[in-house]
Amino acid sequence: MSSVRFKAIGEVLNRKFLEVKLPSVKTSEYFGINVFDSRKMQEYLSGEAYKKVLEAIEKGIRIDRKIANQVATGMKAWAIDRGATHYTHWFHPLNGTTAEKHDAFFEPADNGGVVENFQGELLVQQEPDASSFPSGGLRNTFEARGYTAWDPSSPAFVFDNTLCIPTIFVSYTGEALDYKTPLIKSLNYIDKAAVDVCQYFDKEIAKVDVMLGWEQEYFLVDNALFNARPDLYLTGRTLLGHASAKDQQLSDHYFGSISDRVKNFMCEFEVEAYKLGIPIKTRHNEVAPNQFECAPMYEEANLAVDHNQMLMTLMDKVARKHDFRVLFHEKPFKGINGSGKHNNWSLQSNNGKNLLSPGRTPKNNLQFLTFLINTIKAVHDYADILRASIAIAGNEHRLGAHEAPPAIMSVFIGSQLTSMLDQLEKRVPDKKMTPDEKTELKLDIGKIPEILLDNTDRNRTSPFAFTGNRFEFRAVGSSANVASPMITLNTVVANQLVEFKQEVDAIIDKGVKKDEAIFQVLKRYIGESKKIRFEGNGYSDDWIKEAEKRGLSNISDVPEALQAFISDQTKDVFAKTQVLTARELEARYDIRLEIYVKKVQIEARVLGDLVLNHIIPTVIKYQNILLENVKGIKTLYPQNIFEHMAKSQLNTISEISERIEIIKDLSDELIEARKKANKIEDIRKKATEYSKKVVPFLEKIRYHVDKLELIVDDELWPFPKYRELLFTR
Ligand code: ADP
Ligand code: MG
Repeated sequence: MSSVRFKAIGEVLNRKFLEVKLPSVKTSEYFGINVFDSRKMQEYLSGEAYKKVLEAIEKGIRIDRKIANQVATGMKAWAIDRGATHYTHWFHPLNGTTAEKHDAFFEPADNGGVVENFQGELLVQQEPDASSFPSGGLRNTFEARGYTAWDPSSPAFVFDNTLCIPTIFVSYTGEALDYKTPLIKSLNYIDKAAVDVCQYFDKEIAKVDVMLGWEQEYFLVDNALFNARPDLYLTGRTLLGHASAKDQQLSDHYFGSISDRVKNFMCEFEVEAYKLGIPIKTRHNEVAPNQFECAPMYEEANLAVDHNQMLMTLMDKVARKHDFRVLFHEKPFKGINGSGKHNNWSLQSNNGKNLLSPGRTPKNNLQFLTFLINTIKAVHDYADILRASIAIAGNEHRLGAHEAPPAIMSVFIGSQLTSMLDQLEKRVPDKKMTPDEKTELKLDIGKIPEILLDNTDRNRTSPFAFTGNRFEFRAVGSSANVASPMITLNTVVANQLVEFKQEVDAIIDKGVKKDEAIFQVLKRYIGESKKIRFEGNGYSDDWIKEAEKRGLSNISDVPEALQAFISDQTKDVFAKTQVLTARELEARYDIRLEIYVKKVQIEARVLGDLVLNHIIPTVIKYQNILLENVKGIKTLYPQNIFEHMAKSQLNTISEISERIEIIKDLSDELIEARKKANKIEDIRKKATEYSKKVVPFLEKIRYHVDKLELIVDDELWPFPKYRELLFTR
């Protein structure tokens, strides 16, 4: 009997569920208790320091050393009151995780004891030895250090007895080595670009924030089963495993009632999230068995990104306490749904208006249409870089498979808005408008709010959908740092808004009235970006054909998709907006390729080990049992009866031999392919070699192993099967 697997199953069946003690007070009484927010700043900082920090947050004004010292002292006092013993700069390096190096608050004192110390310079800047973080060649090897610098716009928090200070991470020569630096730049740029455009409609708008609400999907697997699957704990996904007879066919998991064990886990991480100020609002079962989703109330994008990174860390930690493991991989199980992270994105002005929400007057609706159409135009013009921003190894398996958007970028806006845009395109004349034409148009766009209320035909198959008052970027992977798609989206939309403003102003300069100039430019954009709009079923094969006819790219290969990072068009738009330099883009491209190669390399090695050290020995054992059986029959029965009785066993014996041989051959070829790829120095060529020559073997080998799983004695099979991973609670 396969001891590891059955011991794990036994453990699961005997599990005592961890009961959670929920706080007895209302959520509002502990929400944000571990965050150094403005209320706590007011309490712990001098009036002057408080004012300066607010200025830094709101206007980006630098904080001087004296004030930094005051802030550090106040922050430390608060953190120690919250039980913190250590502090860390908390940042988002480009490997997609968060990084922290904890230092104790205390320092040796003159009298031989220790004192709690934390000075302004430690708050503002640190120099972690960063040589092990990916830099894509931006740091010379002799200058391994980068430095981290405080981002006052995202509040410090206490997690696990450690004061975490959100920071940016840059090289000594000033290049960004993280996600936060370009994210903040993109947010500043779109703020300015959107405010400029808003002046056409509302002179009171002085600031525009990007709002982000992410929906985090994930799987839960019992810890014991997880540990019995080396592929899961080493690569985050199953490299082997035949489909379970029942998985998601009946859709009986979606929105179903949540089991007590899972609910305990959810309640506990939600309470911890609330303490960190993360406003989790919804939780539900997803389509696949043991798949779930949670989503917060949307927030300012920089904060929302931090909160998502914090939440993933938190969920992982709380899951272990409940003997679960949380899987953020985009496709942990073959043949059933993968996990994504929808990014709900909108623009909000300082007077609290959502610029993507239709208003009550034609003027407001013209503003709405302006932002709607400019976003569509930006997605149309920069589809490839948007696609690249979400290209990671895990997402490659998800996109285009089971209920996930394809690798083709398209925009869904619903039938009513579609006909609205079609009308505009038809009705706005190329010549000067007559008063009648103007009135009619205004009447038309005045109807938008009514229309949208009826607009319930939400299309879930689109990678980029307008859902009433926001765009939902659905192709983002569940493990991703959402800063990546946000940086790209903000940048291309901001750039588009700047161009729009220039075009409209040029027409106004020729003596055309403002509204008419806006209509003219929007009309042209509608026509120019038409081919990116698609209202049909994005999961269908017809769409793939149709998209090809329209000339839209459909790149499912990661290294190929990533090439958009260094196209001239990308370099231009990022240089114009000053979000990333060409050198930084090149570095990001190389880093992504390197991560991709390493992931595939690890998967290939793990699969090799599993097959040679676990699967083949197991099937040989089973084959020996069959051989014994056949020999026994042979000694007892005459030939004609033997042939009849041993037929099925003999078939299985030869099927096993055949498959072992194929698996062995494929494994040898895989090793050769890897060796060849590893010899290539140039990371760009190497990644392509890995994707084209190594990756295909993973599926080919798996196919035969999964067939063997179906014929080998269940008691011998070494790894927990899909039915156990997906259904054991
Ligand atoms: P659904 O699954 O139907 O898309 P959810 O409730 O799961 O809806 O998630 C919707 C997400 O969109 C939430 O995070 C929510 O806060 C966010 N959201 C709602 N309105 C906006 C908006 N105007 N801007 C950005 N995000 C928004
Ligand atoms: Mg959604």
